[in-house]
Amino acid sequence: MKVLVFNCGSSSIKFKLYQMPEEKVLADGSVQRVGHDDASATVRTDLAIQHIETAILDYPAGFAVIKDLLLDEERGAIGSLSEVAACGHRVVHGGEAFGGSMLVDDELEKGIEAVSELAPLHNPPNLTGIREAERMFGDIPQIACFDTAFHHSIPETAYRYAIPESFYKDLHIRRYGFHGMSHQFVARRAAELLGKHKYAVNVITCHLGNGSSITAVRDGHSVDTSMGLTPLEGLVMGTRSGDLDPGILFFLHRKGYSTTDLDTVLNKKSGLLGLSGTSNDVRDLEERAKKGDKNAALALDIFAYRIRKYIGSYMAVLNRVDGIIFTGGIGENGSDMRARILADMDQLGIELDGQKNKTHIGKTGEIQTDASHVKVFVIPTNEELAIARDTYKMTNS
Ligand code: ADP
Repeated sequence: MKVLVFNCGSSSIKFKLYQMPEEKVLADGSVQRVGHDDASATVRTDLAIQHIETAILDYPAGFAVIKDLLLDEERGAIGSLSEVAACGHRVVHGGEAFGGSMLVDDELEKGIEAVSELAPLHNPPNLTGIREAERMFGDIPQIACFDTAFHHSIPETAYRYAIPESFYKDLHIRRYGFHGMSHQFVARRAAELLGKHKYAVNVITCHLGNGSSITAVRDGHSVDTSMGLTPLEGLVMGTRSGDLDPGILFFLHRKGYSTTDLDTVLNKKSGLLGLSGTSNDVRDLEERAKKGDKNAALALDIFAYRIRKYIGSYMAVLNRVDGIIFTGGIGENGSDMRARILADMDQLGIELDGQKNKTHIGKTGEIQTDASHVKVFVIPTNEELAIARDTYKMTNS
């Protein structure tokens, strides 16, 4: 059966068409700059690339373009919309209600709407995407796959903040965690590589991209993760600060910064960009550091140091760690960064093999020495495939 996976953002619609259960990608595409006169759309299949530039002023117009490209007589991936048996959708926030992928119905749409205030930039376009897919494909299953769902197993000790209970009870302030489809995907793959049952592995999964988070997985279940109520907490990211003393916010507020200013500073002007003053891209910063840019070198050191601290704390949480997994653009490709993160950890049982580390760029494999007690894996993530698998499973059970 054919499964179409959507990842709908505020100004982009990404999609991938799979033949399941073979997991073959039939088409891969995106619409960029939705809401603008100078929008574009691209679809790739094995045989052709179609690209158009045109005004795409809203979501319905974006979906109409996708339909035309998929059904193109010469270069399209399908002959009729009825070939698509189900759609899977990435939904960023599932709140406390959704602990797994769900079949969309009216109740579920209301649920997604209800937690939108926790992810105001993400959930509304995710929901619009679901509704447009319902309109376009009629009566086929639509499956919602939540970024927060894998973290539902986190115990209260780890998900509660030490603030008065009423903030949790009334306002639902707690750790939710994100990147769940990715952490789950690589944890399951690591179990296969370790030759263990998926519920028998203890791993630390490091998803390092523009947004970064790290998760402690015990017996295949997430038991702690670095992102919190929002995707701002935890690791240093491309433009996000990650952890900081909340007192800094009061201090800056008293200096005249509004909540909007602070939001912009911490989400868009901090992290690697804020520290280096030049770039949010690890590759650029490594180039600059090599040429003697001290701020670039410091930004990379602070980025790595924060991850080391989390790895250490999650080792204490898990006690037994079978593997540390690197994924995401930086985790999969950044061998220098991986070396920086895991340097001098031999007393903790972690020893990177320099040569293996260098040769594992963007491909799956182990990169530790024979003496290392803890295995270190590079595992490319594939969130779309994880969504396609869940969608296939849910429509065939
Ligand atoms: P997103 O979170 O937007 O999905 P990605 O997972 O694609 O981001 O990661 C993007 C980041 O990956 C870039 O900012 C870049 O710093 C990093 N990256 C890509 N290739 C390399 C590389 N060869 N070495 C180091 N970092 C890399």
